[in-house]
Amino acid sequence: MTEMEHRTQLVELGASLFVRGYSVGSAGNISLRLPDGNIMATPTNSCLGRLFARDLSLADMEGKHLSGLAPTRELPLHLAVYKAQPDCNAVVHLHSSYATALSALADVDPENALTPFTPYYVMKIGRLPVVPYYKPGTRELSAAAAKIAGNVNAFLLANHGSVVCGASLVDAVNSTEELEETAKLYFLLRSSGRPVRHLTAEEIADLASHKEVPR
Ligand SMILES: [Zn+2]
Repeated sequence: MTEMEHRTQLVELGASLFVRGYSVGSAGNISLRLPDGNIMATPTNSCLGRLFARDLSLADMEGKHLSGLAPTRELPLHLAVYKAQPDCNAVVHLHSSYATALSALADVDPENALTPFTPYYVMKIGRLPVVPYYKPGTRELSAAAAKIAGNVNAFLLANHGSVVCGASLVDAVNSTEELEETAKLYFLLRSSGRPVRHLTAEEIADLASHKEVPR
């Protein structure tokens, strides 16, 4: 893909997430790693529904602003993921309703916030650790994320939202949607008050061989 094709795709996928309610206002940010190693990111205070290709920010892996509008203040979080995962080429960070609700549960397991109950979730996400709460945009938050970002497809930021990576932007968006849908199902099941049959360890192990981005 050319740089312009990446810009166009980021604008289109941002708008798609926005119109379907995955983000509101200026919440959430998206980035991708270009073939030259630099990062294309949504600008600070931008709305995913109203991005413009020419405004997208370019920065290097140290966070130095190269062109476009100033990048999202959460760029250090994205950079931490890219540094931890050489095969990650896109990061989607949202404050979507159900994943964020899950991130705010006091009794969530920080090692894995969702015990799998559907196979597609296992293939797209797998384990979902939770980074403790830190003020958004801070060095403390990106340092904490760096510690767990190395071997997972996604993680939650406590009381904040989700971070999902992918080999491509399309991969990261698909996995983000899968995570949000699964979190929604989790709350539906929880409110039903009925017992849930989770996948067994054997069933999960069997699916691991079909994982789209092995880690
Ligand atoms: Zn955020």
